[in-house]
Amino acid sequence: MALEGVDGSGKSTQARLLAVSLLQQGREVVLTQEPGSGPVGQRLRRYLQGADRHLSPQEELDLFLADRREHVEQVIKPALAAGQIVITDRYYYSSVAYQGALGLDPTWILAENEAFAPQPDLVFILVLPVSQALARLQRPHQLSELPLYLEQVAAIYHNLQGPHIQRLDATASPQTLHATLLARTLEALGEFGGVG
Ligand code: ADP
Ligand code: MG
Repeated sequence: MALEGVDGSGKSTQARLLAVSLLQQGREVVLTQEPGSGPVGQRLRRYLQGADRHLSPQEELDLFLADRREHVEQVIKPALAAGQIVITDRYYYSSVAYQGALGLDPTWILAENEAFAPQPDLVFILVLPVSQALARLQRPHQLSELPLYLEQVAAIYHNLQGPHIQRLDATASPQTLHATLLARTLEALGEFGGVG
């Protein structure tokens, strides 16, 4: 399963809480995130924390795709093959929303990703007004965190649809949000026997 939403919407908080609850139930869980920890992921993180956004949208997308290919091959596929529950803090919907907001076609970005990346059984999009999300971040904002840009990102997230995509009101407290997320995940586990 994947957690998505704008910066500050609570993805990392919820990913940790969900992993802990599932582990406490004795389930096997792999908690992972994008950008990944490999060389490309590290380069991406440095770029996003840097002073200017000098890469073209296509170059950015290419880097995220390279990072994701590595993530899929080295982390996601082996975990799924071992029957573990994968919780990923961001996945390819982030490319659809963030590079889509730079002018690339969201539908095309989605197709490029779904050609190689396993579709999650569940995607939670945490929905929070951009102003509230940015107010939560207790650090200097990154290049990708300009309010107008994030409004575009949020609009693309808003348009994503599919039976596996669920939206949650992220204005709720972490514990309230967690209770909903856990209940829906357990429901899906009952349905699929495993949640990718
Ligand atoms: P993201 O990973 O989506 O950027 P985080 O989980 O890092 O978001 O949360 C951003 C900030 O907001 C953190 O300081 C976190 O403690 C706080 N936070 C997370 N969830 C909530 C919530 N439901 N209500 C209020 N503050 C929250
Ligand atoms: Mg985070």
